[in-house]
Amino acid sequence: MNFILFGPPGAGKGTQAQKLVKKYDYLQISTGDLLRSETKTNSELGNKIENLISNGQFVSDEIVFKLLEKKISELTHKNKIIFDGYPRTINQSKDLNKLLNNYNEKIDLVISLNVPREIVEKRIMGRITCEKCNITLNEYFDKERITQLDCEGKYLVKRKDDNAETILARYDKYIETTKPVLDFLSNSISVHQIDGTLKIDEITRKIDDILGV
Ligand code: AMP
Repeated sequence: MNFILFGPPGAGKGTQAQKLVKKYDYLQISTGDLLRSETKTNSELGNKIENLISNGQFVSDEIVFKLLEKKISELTHKNKIIFDGYPRTINQSKDLNKLLNNYNEKIDLVISLNVPREIVEKRIMGRITCEKCNITLNEYFDKERITQLDCEGKYLVKRKDDNAETILARYDKYIETTKPVLDFLSNSISVHQIDGTLKIDEITRKIDDILGV
């Protein structure tokens, strides 16, 4: 089963996706991660992407699609993909459909995590990610866990676009441009809504129920 994990920045999509990857061998495709890898190459394209991300703006549908297409074409086992951060526009939804069609794949459902603006702001301000194991924590809420990490927190980094101004711009862009994509998707696939302010484990249980795992 392939599905889209939908929701504003800071909704917990990455956290939930990581759990499914570990427990059930799902594959997480995060377009944010694909774009951030590209920025590390220091290419002209990478610098252009970096600039857009730092300002909370969208990277063009064409650029994101190219990276996504490459990733999908390299996959050996499909039908267990979590799309995280894609599609963000109606155009991207159509692109995704066409792309998956070419590989005899499809999206089976959408899980949308709903979180209000003020909670997103608090969550993202403290967000830190381990560059080595890809785990995401919060420097204010997860102090104890950070001291227990195998890597002793040596690889924890803050994303450049996780500052107050950019966070709110990203949230507003989500409400304005991305949330309407849910209506579009709901015409052809089932959309499951989850309260993203619940505890992490409660959300995980609800997702497991929806996926039937
Ligand atoms: P994320 O890691 O999903 O929060 O994405 C970080 C940033 O990457 C976003 O704020 C956008 O600038 C860019 N980005 C990620 N996915 C997309 C997408 N599907 N379309 C356009 N831009 C994207």
